[in-house]
Parts: sequence; structure tokens; C-alpha cells
Amino acid sequence: MYAGRKVEEGDVDAFFRAPAHPYSQALMASVPRPELVAIGESQNLAEIPGTVPSLDRMDPGCAFASRCAHVRDVCRGAVPALCKSDGDRKVACVRAGDFTS
Ligand code: SF4
Repeated sequence: MYAGRKVEEGDVDAFFRAPAHPYSQALMASVPRPELVAIGESQNLAEIPGTVPSLDRMDPGCAFASRCAHVRDVCRGAVPALCKSDGDRKVACVRAGDFTS
């Protein structure tokens, strides 16, 4: 879910192994990994730039557009529908399939 909208749906293991939506990917990149600390490795946590949009003043198009590293003009035209991606997975991104995690 992002800004009150479902952005990805599917098998939990597949999600954690390879999130498909740019928000899911950014979110998972910001999760600390204690197993790295346990073996003395450092980890640079990714940061999602910007802030969540106000739900009463949403821009047209994708709610994640102002924060997305993959944004294009087409993203701002209409709210992306939750569409079948691979397997049982559904992703609400007009560029789903253009990139992988
Ligand atoms: S629709 Fe565009 S802005 Fe939204 S997540 Fe996909 S690439 Fe990013």
C-alpha cells in the first residue's frame, strides 16, 4: 500500500525475494539487515526521498511519482491500475516490467 492505494499484490516469498513495484523496492532497500551487522558488515540504508502526499490533495496519476526513481511523464496521466505482472503478482505501475529489483 502507498498513500492508501494498493501497489503490489502476490505471493509473500516472491515479494520479499524480488519486490516489483518501485515503492516496494525502495521500501525493502531501507530495511536494516541484522545478519550483516552480525558478521561485521556495514550496510548503507537507502532513503526514499520526499514525503508521502497529502491524501486530500493528491496529484493526478501515480501517487508515488514525486518520489520515484523511475518516473516518466506517462506516470502523471492517470492512476495506474493493478495489473497482472508475472505469475500471480499484480503491480500498479505503468512501467512494470521495464525494470527489475
Ligand atoms: S507508475 Fe511511474 S511513478 Fe509510479 S511507480 Fe511506476 S514508474 Fe514510478
